[in-house]
Amino acid sequence: MKIAAGTTVQALQAGLPLDPLENRILLCHALGLTRVGLITNSERVLNEEEAVQLDALLARRLGGEPIAYIVGQREFFGLPFQVSPAVLIPRPDTELIVELVLERLARIRSTARLLDMGTGSGAIAVAVAHTRPDASVTALDVSEAALAVARANAARNGAQVRFLRSDWFAALEDETFDLIASNPPYIAAGDTHLAQGDLRFEPSGALTDFADGFSALRTIIGGAPAHLVAGGWLLLEHGYDQAAAVRALLLDAGYTEVQSWRDLSGIERVSGGRRG
Ligand code: GLN
Repeated sequence: MKIAAGTTVQALQAGLPLDPLENRILLCHALGLTRVGLITNSERVLNEEEAVQLDALLARRLGGEPIAYIVGQREFFGLPFQVSPAVLIPRPDTELIVELVLERLARIRSTARLLDMGTGSGAIAVAVAHTRPDASVTALDVSEAALAVARANAARNGAQVRFLRSDWFAALEDETFDLIASNPPYIAAGDTHLAQGDLRFEPSGALTDFADGFSALRTIIGGAPAHLVAGGWLLLEHGYDQAAAVRALLLDAGYTEVQSWRDLSGIERVSGGRRG
């Protein structure tokens, strides 16, 4: 598609080839306008430089690149998150685990301690720490590049989070938490979804365990009791067809109150239990 300089914002918005939401996101980014600015500037015409810039952005999107990576940002839990190809793009589904964490933190009297394992962009940890500045939030990831993004997101949203580089529990020593939450890589190697849509561009280590989809889940379920206080909760996000198997793993490992919760699409998306 060739964007012509001299076109008005209004005409452009109607004529771009993406869906209406993405047209708007790309236009805002190319013109440095906010959502409201786009409306109040509807008669503004594009100059040559902006037309070239918009053309380039459109070509990337039409080539399949996720819009969040193109503009470097995605909103999650009402907060702006910086994203790059070093991290998974936060999904609306993941707001469920944030809400489950917040409900449980609200019942803890003393300073509640949360651990977010495999934090990626920091979505879960930053959303919780932003909502509950009195909580003590620790987030870890094996990827230094992901931690750099997560740290920037904590700073940008004024959230106090302690970040650790750790391969799951490896760097934790004997520390304990009231709650452990994780959205680990849970897609099985060879799952066709990995070759579709945004997932093609996301870090494979954040999506898949390169095995049956359960290896990270098993590691976390097996290791969490040593890092949870008695009665502490483990909450895990997982794939659309993994809930029953995750509940079985939790029960086998001795967790109590084992259950699953549905996301906005009605899919069992988070399972968890308490350390017995
Ligand atoms: N929810 C992501 C997807 O299927 C996968 C995230 C993950 O593996 N943790 O698009």
